[in-house]
Amino acid sequence: MFNPSLPSPFSRAIECLGFGLINKVFLDFGISWWKPSTKGFQLLWKEETFCNKKLAAWTRDMTGFDVLPNHEGILLGWVGGRGAYIVETLSEQQVATDCENLLKHYLKFDKIFPVKKCLRTQWNANKYVRGSYSHITTRCDVDGITPCCLAEPIWGKTKKKYDKDVPIMMFAGEATHESFYSTTHGAYDTGVKQAQTFLRYHVTKS
Ligand SMILES: Cc1cc2nc3c(=O)[nH]c(=O)nc-3n(C[C@H](O)[C@H](O)[C@H](O)COP(=O)(O)OP(=O)(O)OC[C@H]3O[C@@H](n4cnc5c(N)ncnc54)[C@H](O)[C@@H]3O)c2cc1C
Repeated sequence: MFNPSLPSPFSRAIECLGFGLINKVFLDFGISWWKPSTKGFQLLWKEETFCNKKLAAWTRDMTGFDVLPNHEGILLGWVGGRGAYIVETLSEQQVATDCENLLKHYLKFDKIFPVKKCLRTQWNANKYVRGSYSHITTRCDVDGITPCCLAEPIWGKTKKKYDKDVPIMMFAGEATHESFYSTTHGAYDTGVKQAQTFLRYHVTKS
């Protein structure tokens, strides 16, 4: 991806850090058929439910559905594991039917309102995203790699500053924060820190 290639500690860190997948499923029923105080439905899977052939296999990786405040009649479902990859390949109609069956099974309702519209994210297929959360893998532990390995600037000379090394390349974002990796505030912090470093070395105060 990089030409010339990155110094090896950086390429090793990028190779070792993981990037997993979670997808969201939005179900629009048009009407809130649940009790007004309901926050959502969290699914606890028993072994017999796990083997239930009437439920689509991918829905076993659904952890639950949240009620979205201020959005009448909409449930937000979360899917991880293999199901997160499979849901991206199904039509939204199929996703809606599978989720309706799952909700009927769990809530013991014969009839729930049919889904009017279903949207699901496809964060793996999106070439600008390719997943959802970075994480530290067991390989990182073996190789002593942490996200902050990526937060160090890469130093070198520029045409303007040929007498001493300055930061010529810096990474920021959720995969580079020492403790708040995989979070928005972590990503933000790293961006601010790298921008400050850039200004310190590249912008002279008048
Ligand atoms: C489902 C979900 C729920 C989450 N919930 C929370 C939460 O409750 N709290 C929390 O703190 N964090 C949460 N996170 C994590 C948080 O969203 C991320 O940690 C954060 O957005 C990462 O910011 P970033 O700037 O590192 O990367 P991103 O926000 O991914 O920004 C990278 C940007 O680069 C763009 N891009 C990629 N490739 C290219 C290219 N070649 N050219 C130009 N642009 C490109 C992408 O389109 C994207 O806009 C959640 C994440 C997910 C997936």
